[in-house]
Amino acid sequence: MSSFPSSSARIFCIANQKGGVGKTTTTVNLAAGMAQLGQRVLVVDLDPQGNATMGSGVDKRRLEHSVYDVLLGGSQVADARQTSPRGGYDVLGANRELAGAEVELVDLDERERRLKTALAVVAHEYDFILIDCPPALSLLTLNGLCAAHGVIVPMQCEYFALEGLSDLVNTIRQVHANLNPELQIIGLLRVMFDPRITLQQQVSEQLKGHFGDKVFNTVIPRNVRLAEAPSYGQPGVVFDPASKGAQAFVQFAHEMIERLGRPRAAQG
Ligand code: ADP
Ligand code: MG
Repeated sequence: MSSFPSSSARIFCIANQKGGVGKTTTTVNLAAGMAQLGQRVLVVDLDPQGNATMGSGVDKRRLEHSVYDVLLGGSQVADARQTSPRGGYDVLGANRELAGAEVELVDLDERERRLKTALAVVAHEYDFILIDCPPALSLLTLNGLCAAHGVIVPMQCEYFALEGLSDLVNTIRQVHANLNPELQIIGLLRVMFDPRITLQQQVSEQLKGHFGDKVFNTVIPRNVRLAEAPSYGQPGVVFDPASKGAQAFVQFAHEMIERLGRPRAAQG
């Protein structure tokens, strides 16, 4: 799309087919952390629950245009996006309407690539685009995986964590083979971590044994301030910057930029 591909955003899905594992918390806090470090970030809410939208301080009940309109071809990202009032990044919002897209997309051309096509138009305006996926390996998630360069997988270090990962890893392999040869797993992010729980330490070690350097160095602790922040329409990183959870997400933003960001000087 762009004649200067190196100036184009790095696009990542935050995905895990389980609900309540920390996808949305990771998306909005990574976005806010990156924004604080001077990065231009767009969050795409691909979940009809609209939690990333609300958690960014954008009212999902008052969206004039949303990611639904973008996927169905009724509007452009540039017209539908809003600015997170406190987060310092842009948001392409979602609400319940998006649940209908799952059915309506089925009959459309290029049904898996509609988000990719729409994001290509604005990719040069951002350093990172973060896509918050719904808790299912659905057509919406497929749109996210087709649009992305990589996947960030937040996970809790619980007994069945490794088992649950294999479905996601298989889906990513299939998308890589059939739809998006660029797609790779960027890394596994340990979230809601409590070091006092021996089992969590054990699973964490297993993860490192299995996935090696695909496990991010940063660990996100269980921290109540991160859970309180969404009801104030703010990422935890903004709501209580001194909290352990906020500090961990800023550290994670550093780690991501170091691993995957492009030097500012190389940007047009
Ligand atoms: P998902 O998007 O995968 O469904 P969420 O990010 O919404 O998961 O997180 C599920 C719940 O856990 C939310 O209530 C959220 O506020 C809470 N939560 C997420 N991460 C943490 C954390 N590190 N510490 C405490 N609570 C957390
Ligand atoms: Mg969510």
